[in-house]
Amino acid sequence: MRLDKFLVHAGVGSRKEVQRLIRGKQVQLNAVVVTSSKANVVPERDQVDVAGEMVHYQQFYYYMLNKPAGVLSATTDPQQRTVIDLLAATDQRADLFPVGRLDKDTTGLLFLTNDGQLAHQLLSPRRQVVKIYRALIAGIVTAADQQRFAAGITTKAGNEFAPADLRILAVDPVQQQSQIEVTLHEGKFHEVKRLFQAVSKEVLTLQRIEMGGLQLDTTLAAGVYRALTDAEITLLQ
Ligand code: URA
Repeated sequence: MRLDKFLVHAGVGSRKEVQRLIRGKQVQLNAVVVTSSKANVVPERDQVDVAGEMVHYQQFYYYMLNKPAGVLSATTDPQQRTVIDLLAATDQRADLFPVGRLDKDTTGLLFLTNDGQLAHQLLSPRRQVVKIYRALIAGIVTAADQQRFAAGITTKAGNEFAPADLRILAVDPVQQQSQIEVTLHEGKFHEVKRLFQAVSKEVLTLQRIEMGGLQLDTTLAAGVYRALTDAEITLLQ
């Protein structure tokens, strides 16, 4: 890999910044000053120092974020805050992206990585990666609703949704609200909201608690993230 690419990947700076450091003789490759951005680096073999500090190279990054309401599941937006804006500046790598999207008002588990292959696997419809959501629903969710979800719903507009497992956690007849958990095996746009719309009910709040076996760490406050453990990364692969 080119030295400048290696340094950008390692989070040392932008392509321009690292090229300036290289030209300024601040970069050593195996203890020898290099002035060419094109010098070849083998991350597993070579030691690179910048201004006397050893560079730690990591190819892939994996984070879970407890997404708060009000931020976009996107990498950039000209007007609105994105989930990337919630990361510390040193973790805001240009190649990091959220795997799948949660609506702006949806909270909970969002997986962020720069590992394109793993993201592709998790989003592939063929893999039918399980996603579990908790929701507060306006109205009383019934056994008939559960049966309709279990059978797979086709909306009046002709949109087809795969069978989903709907569990009723609590109903409040006074407030006329229900707490539910729903397990999906696909990830269609606004899927939970559209499923409930099909049974004439409204989703008041929605939180994702699990994806591909990865569970939301309940010790993370809204807006807080952490790196995945090795065991969690293995779970997703
Ligand atoms: N289903 C929805 O309706 N919204 C989400 O954000 C995720 C699943």
